[in-house]
Amino acid sequence: MAAVALRDVHKGFGDVEVIKGVTLDIADREFVVFVGPSGCGKSTLLRLIAGLEEITSGDVLIDGERVNDVAPARRGLAMVFQSYALYPHMTVADNMAFALRLAGESREERARKVQEAARVLQLEPLLARKPKELSGGQRQRVAIGRAIVRNPRVFLFDEPLSNLDAALRVQMRVELTRLHDQLQATMIYVTHDQVEAMTMADKIVVLQAGVVEQVGSPLELYHHPRNLFVAGFIGSPK
Ligand code: ADP
Ligand code: MG
Repeated sequence: MAAVALRDVHKGFGDVEVIKGVTLDIADREFVVFVGPSGCGKSTLLRLIAGLEEITSGDVLIDGERVNDVAPARRGLAMVFQSYALYPHMTVADNMAFALRLAGESREERARKVQEAARVLQLEPLLARKPKELSGGQRQRVAIGRAIVRNPRVFLFDEPLSNLDAALRVQMRVELTRLHDQLQATMIYVTHDQVEAMTMADKIVVLQAGVVEQVGSPLELYHHPRNLFVAGFIGSPK
């Protein structure tokens, strides 16, 4: 059964339809990348899965259950955004534990989960620091840590590396791939960067103007692009 499935999903803002009938299956533990030019609807699609936008028509299913009317916090997902505002007055540990505290978890439980996430993200030596004492890459890892402590079934990433410089982006790509192997979680990752898509994805979903142009592995898309748009976007040699 698919971890996340979309069935003929449409989304309009006013009179403008921006998602135009997307049907998609994302398997358990898959690393799926939504790629496409700016404005094609990647963030909107992610927000529909997260429940942060109301769907106009169609269905979103998580583990086979229709979640159209399920609140974001109850969908078992965690989202990491491009602008990952950390609380400046809190330590790294407190930033990571914040959602758990809101959820009423005990101090011991919070400490255990933060320690485990810090170990996975190699943030242990930094737990007592404040965000301003961290580099950009370290801050991004803390933002990912906030998602990990909640132990979600599905991670949603919306261009999480786009504020980092090129060298750090390359390093974080490798780290996210390692994290995916280690956590054995389903990850849906949005980017407009073809290189990120080609290097990180098990499966790429190419979007254009609210429509899925093609779904396939990086190699399939590279060698067998379905049309000129996909070929041009992926950089296929034709
Ligand atoms: P992407 O993430 O691929 O750059 P988005 O999903 O952010 O694209 O946006 C897709 C389209 O929907 C764009 O034309 C954008 O202007 C429009 N859009 C997104 N959010 C809203 C909104 N809240 N109200 C009106 N239009 C929106
Ligand atoms: Mg976007």
